[in-house]
Amino acid sequence: MLQLPTYADVIDAAARLEGHAHRTPVLRSATADARYGAQFFFKCENFQRMGAFKFRGAFNALSKFDAAQRTAGAIAFSSGNHAQAVALSARLLGMPAVIVMPHDAPAAKLVATREYGAEVVQYDRFAEDREAVTRQLAEERGMTLIPPYDHPDVIAGQGTAVKELIEDTAADGPLDALYICLGGGGLTSGSALSARALAPGCKVYGVEPEAGNDGQQSFRSGKIVHIETPRTIADGAQTQHLGQYTFAIIKRDVDDILTVSDVQLVEAMRFFAERMKMVVEPTGCLSFAAACAAGAAIAGRRVGIVVSGGNVDLARYAALLAGD
Ligand SMILES: *Cc1c(COP(=O)(O)O)cnc(C)c1O
Repeated sequence: MLQLPTYADVIDAAARLEGHAHRTPVLRSATADARYGAQFFFKCENFQRMGAFKFRGAFNALSKFDAAQRTAGAIAFSSGNHAQAVALSARLLGMPAVIVMPHDAPAAKLVATREYGAEVVQYDRFAEDREAVTRQLAEERGMTLIPPYDHPDVIAGQGTAVKELIEDTAADGPLDALYICLGGGGLTSGSALSARALAPGCKVYGVEPEAGNDGQQSFRSGKIVHIETPRTIADGAQTQHLGQYTFAIIKRDVDDILTVSDVQLVEAMRFFAERMKMVVEPTGCLSFAAACAAGAAIAGRRVGIVVSGGNVDLARYAALLAGD
């Protein structure tokens, strides 16, 4: 039996993050409200440290290391936001970090990860298995592997964003619905723990790219479905399957998994840029894009939107907005 994290773990994570993570703003948009006939509350994790909610889970997990684990440090494999989250958390907590990245990872990501103080170890994506490379290094150096989503401390940390969102909007009544960007499910499962505890009547939806709907297939079939790496602009949601922990919570606490197309993601990205003056990465647009398509389901409702991150190469961002 898996020992699933609970809302009590989210509360403990919030205490560890206090003074280290930003309590990100909850923004409103009169234009969005008028256009869709709902009241939107945007939880802006694009303004979180290192630019995405992933700081929450990584910092919480690393904070729980014992003395021996701290001395040896943390190791992770990622070329995305989890890499930077582990690197920054390790630096803040004064421990070493190794990030395993493919040899052809974008130069900007390598530089950013090194700037946060981590050692980057590259592997050949075509000839080597990244998990095997990482495990071997972890063993050699006695480092603790922190996965990007399927870990109770990571899930509990991610749950703190929606805890804040619900607390900060509670004065005028509970939220009716919550839309969350879904990749491997760390953010969605943590958010669901907070929503079930603080706003039991609130509908909780995970949103993934249409091309990579393994989460939806898993939710509907009741078992974890594996897919090939999907082709989508939502690079933070190109996961091939949910995790053991994340799926168990999602199955129990989430109302449905929805999907959106890349075209819808670009429309949402343009809305954030034009109307709210925010840079949001494609993956961070999943939640709002699904809410925009929800029609009658959100009419007259109070709707929470988790904007998950804002890390996007500017040339790519410009090209997407220009429709290239
Ligand atoms: C990682 C990530 C996601 C997906 O989170 P999971 O916990 O893997 O479901 C969504 N948005 C952004 C910006 C991310 O970095």
